[in-house]
Amino acid sequence: MKKRVKTRKVSGVESVEPAITPLTDAPLIPRISKLPPIGAPRLDIPEGLWTKCPKCNELLYDKYLDDNLKVCMHCSYHFPFSARERINSLVETCSFEETNADLESLDILSFKGPSNYTEKIKQNQEKTGLRDAVVTGVGDIGPHRVALAVMDFKFLGGSMGSVVGEKITRLVEEATDRNLPVIIFAASGGARMYEGMFSLMQMAKTSAALAFHAKAQLPYISVLTNPTTAGVMASFASLGDVIIAEPRAMIGFAGPRVIQSTTHQELPSDFQTSEFLLDHGLIDLILDRNEMKRTLISLLGYMSRAKNRF
Ligand SMILES: [Zn+2]
Repeated sequence: MKKRVKTRKVSGVESVEPAITPLTDAPLIPRISKLPPIGAPRLDIPEGLWTKCPKCNELLYDKYLDDNLKVCMHCSYHFPFSARERINSLVETCSFEETNADLESLDILSFKGPSNYTEKIKQNQEKTGLRDAVVTGVGDIGPHRVALAVMDFKFLGGSMGSVVGEKITRLVEEATDRNLPVIIFAASGGARMYEGMFSLMQMAKTSAALAFHAKAQLPYISVLTNPTTAGVMASFASLGDVIIAEPRAMIGFAGPRVIQSTTHQELPSDFQTSEFLLDHGLIDLILDRNEMKRTLISLLGYMSRAKNRF
């Protein structure tokens, strides 16, 4: 039998060490292409990690987006902000005492529609973790103790029913009794149709409470977020001593289509935006969400000093 002679594989240069190759009977590692085959459906981006900005189309890492108060780092687009997130971004840690947290809407009119009102309320409570479309309470913003109400658009479009009106009215009355400034963040599609006239009455009730608060020479700052419309805009949201808006928020009473068909006029492209309303004198200031807390502290300081002079 002929003796097998093992030879080294070389690549032409004797000094080069041979590459380590797998044994011939070892399974070969299959080569996997990094690209999906042509025509295969696109892999979805895992939820909860990245968000696509609807304005500039950039993909934003959720953690950085949250750290930036849900404002796009590339184009400053303001994503929707929940009531709880807003409160956390403004008040000092552990200083917020929620008021009237247990108030819940009743189906006073036994509303009949595609789905009944009681069911709608329950669905929205589960979706948002809130009892109704506003959170009210007293907390510290910098060195100032303030009465704060924050609406949440995700709860039935931030509509104002009797609970929203009642919670805001009670908060303003408490602020008047305790000599506190009021700040209300509005986000609303208007009155809550499921409550009919009871909903419309909240416009007068909240406005009356604010009139007594103003009589006591206490400051009220109204902040309009996207969107603030209809009955809310036509009542407490437009009554602030200072009215602030977030950039590019939609603010108005009736929708642009209704106005266009009623007036038969071509409307400007930026109609009912914060920028348009600032130019026309309805609001005082447009503020980026990241500037909000610092500016509120300055305004409250200025207004409380001004009050002490009179
Ligand atoms: Zn963007």
